Amino acid sequence: MPGKAGRLLFTCAIGSICTVVICNALHRPTAPSADKDYTPAVSLPQRAAPKTPPAPTRTTESATVDETFSDAAQSLGIDQGTIATLTEAFASNVDMRRDLRKGDTLSVVYDRPQGSATADDPPLAVRLTTGSSSHDVFLYRDPNGETRYYAKDGKSTKPAFSRYPVAFTRVSSDFSLRRFDPVVHRWQSHDGVDLAAPIGTPVHATAQGKVTFVGRQTGYGKVVMLENPPPYSTVYAHLSRFAKGIRTGGTVQRGQVIGYVGETGWATGPHLHYEVHVDDVAMDPLTVDLPGDDRLHGEERQRFAREAEALSAELNG
Ligand SMILES: [Zn+2]
Repeated sequence: MPGKAGRLLFTCAIGSICTVVICNALHRPTAPSADKDYTPAVSLPQRAAPKTPPAPTRTTESATVDETFSDAAQSLGIDQGTIATLTEAFASNVDMRRDLRKGDTLSVVYDRPQGSATADDPPLAVRLTTGSSSHDVFLYRDPNGETRYYAKDGKSTKPAFSRYPVAFTRVSSDFSLRRFDPVVHRWQSHDGVDLAAPIGTPVHATAQGKVTFVGRQTGYGKVVMLENPPPYSTVYAHLSRFAKGIRTGGTVQRGQVIGYVGETGWATGPHLHYEVHVDDVAMDPLTVDLPGDDRLHGEERQRFAREAEALSAELNG
């Protein structure tokens, strides 16, 4: 080859026309070539577009969590909107900030158009394996074309929220941004609602959550604070006592008794002071938007169950 290269250099020095000739000569297909980078240009005959789109192929892909759930999901081609939906769908089982470890895995099942490397549609099934436990969610498309993720048993992955934490007799004080407090004799906002009920009436967690505080605080008296599925958190104040087993750092289920109505702290009579925070902003508990229970029923549920079973098998490999 040195001889050939030398000849090329020499010939090129003569003039540009020769350069073209030499280069063309070098690029002419010669068989068989020792040059590994050489790829003959092959033009395939153009195929006519098929009249009906080919059936999509069902594919399963996995990614290892390196940093965040979002990174792993992005590496599988999942868009930001779907990542947010999935984060919420897993929220009742997995705390993405605390439970996820390097090496956890994310698997998705797609229906992709044949030959396509990416899908515009959200994944049909997603499995998040953290340590020794795995959590699955399945996409359901309702007759209107709306999509939501459900657990395999047809329970919505959107966490359900109860409106009222206690069987109350009346609303003794409404939520307000600014009101005169009869106890401290000051104008201040009322970040929650007061639900009057006899002392000892059980107080229930309005949604599942993590106990972030249980104890006494000025004003609140005996209070339980919960971090519920994002973006919600709730506060239950003026309790007479706490329910057994309620500990800071522990978890509670929706409807679980967390304490009993009292009048500890700054309270003029027995009532529950209840707060709902959305992204750490206090909202009116009586009117704030709460995620409902979108459980599937009847024929929809059966159709979903069949599909989830097939997708589950796909995830199991
Ligand atoms: Zn109050």
